[in-house]
Amino acid sequence: MQKTVVIVGGGVTGLTAAWTLQKNMGDAMRCFVIERALRPGGKISSARRDDFVVEIGPDSFITQKPDALALCRELGLQDRLVGSNAMERTTYVWSRGRLHPLPEGMLLMAPAKVMPVLRSRLLTWPGKLRMGMEYFIPPRRPDAPEESLAAFVRRRLGKEALEKIATPLMAGIHAADPERLSLRSTFPMFLEMEQKHGSLLRAMLRRKRVQKVNPAHKGNASAPSSMFVSLRGGLEQMTEALAAHLTPGTLRLGESVASITREDGQYVLIMDDGQYMRADAVILAAPAYATAQMVQTLDAQLAERLRAIRYVSTATVSLAYRRSEIPHALDGYGFVVPRGEHRSITACSWSSMKFPGRAPEGYALVRVFLGGAGAEHLAEQGEAELVERARVELRTTMGIAAHPQWAVAHCWWKANPQYELGHAALVEEAERLAAQHDGLHLAGAAYHGAGIPDCIRSGRVAAEMTAKKIQTNRCVTI
Ligand SMILES: Cc1cc2nc3c(=O)[nH]c(=O)nc-3n(C[C@H](O)[C@H](O)[C@H](O)COP(=O)(O)OP(=O)(O)OC[C@H]3O[C@@H](n4cnc5c(N)ncnc54)[C@H](O)[C@@H]3O)c2cc1C
Repeated sequence: MQKTVVIVGGGVTGLTAAWTLQKNMGDAMRCFVIERALRPGGKISSARRDDFVVEIGPDSFITQKPDALALCRELGLQDRLVGSNAMERTTYVWSRGRLHPLPEGMLLMAPAKVMPVLRSRLLTWPGKLRMGMEYFIPPRRPDAPEESLAAFVRRRLGKEALEKIATPLMAGIHAADPERLSLRSTFPMFLEMEQKHGSLLRAMLRRKRVQKVNPAHKGNASAPSSMFVSLRGGLEQMTEALAAHLTPGTLRLGESVASITREDGQYVLIMDDGQYMRADAVILAAPAYATAQMVQTLDAQLAERLRAIRYVSTATVSLAYRRSEIPHALDGYGFVVPRGEHRSITACSWSSMKFPGRAPEGYALVRVFLGGAGAEHLAEQGEAELVERARVELRTTMGIAAHPQWAVAHCWWKANPQYELGHAALVEEAERLAAQHDGLHLAGAAYHGAGIPDCIRSGRVAAEMTAKKIQTNRCVTI
């Protein structure tokens, strides 16, 4: 008999899961994606306004993790891939009343070159010396208790590197509190660098030597050379293409799952409007707190674990200007704002400098970020308040006095999962509990990485496990 798989959540994770299942299993099963919103894509959301391309949610993905790039190619989007503009690789940091370029050659917090750090006016001399001492600080024992990003950076590179570089750049990616953010669950490469080479500086110097001897080590030769990639018409083209590849009738928009129970060896999904669906397997690809609500009656312990994954709110405001109205050279990707500066924005992307085709000739598009851990009240506001706050901040930081041609703001309510200390153990426990329910899988940004490539991988893995399960069960029945 044809089996039914229901995927809850039509973000990039759920759509990838559905497509993978349909590719692998064809007519051997029926698959539905239940999505609460009226459009697929979840947090991936792009808009066109005049001749601008505006990203409301994510604006790019990294190429180091291959899954997103591979998916775009599979979907036939290779001609639309655009790398971030290579000429302008600087990111600025707002500090003591002005924008300072981040020292050249930084791999997030780890410097690859000594001279740019020494020359930088972002850091004080004691701060630079403290960073240099990192070379001599012995690594921690591998079995030492888990460290937060803040504890790790303070121990290795000092307080100033934490405040001016690691917190705005790294904790900023997760909109997180660096004192609570698990380094192991978010940036494990720095732990590996410490364990393998004894220090981050040693690891970076060795990396440089290897690259000199063998330039192929610089990266995957077949991938675009940029570290960040987007799509010409906006990232939403990826989720639109995924949705378009699904068998008609798969995607059920505007429906919301209220709860899930089990009856006669099947799952029963009860919708908000009281309708229900039966399924042999279920992939839960909604945010963890929404999934917790759905599984509360099925498994209260699992629900409790899922609820323990905290989320915070952020907001984005995109503003369009005439290029001549911006006094800054815009010679970089944008800037980040350390918490200690007490401003109400966390970062600003110079979107039209970052990727080609984001603004028409003679115009510029900038995007301001607000909120995150400890500052959610700044994000949880109406559109007019968000735009006004962004304008005030742009006047102070970039000297933009003009009114924007137009502005678009969006509050991402509880959209950013927090990978806090103990995250790996929490997820392991949630997955152990979920595995006790035959054919039930967790997938998405809350578990093994919140970046788009991580979500795609998570959706694909859940689909492959589901397909295997269905195939095994069919063999047993036969
Ligand atoms: C502002 C912002 C900027 C970001 N920037 C980047 C970036 O530049 N690069 C990057 O790699 N990542 C970025 N991210 C992270 C990345 O966008 C997300 O982690 C990823 O898109 C999440 O995909 P998902 O499918 O797991 O979840 P979602 O996109 O959240 O999809 C889950 C879906 O489940 C649906 N749902 C919820 N409850 C129910 C229910 N009861 N019934 C049915 N459906 C339900 C929701 O409506 C939603 O559509 C950013 C995130 C944000 C918020």
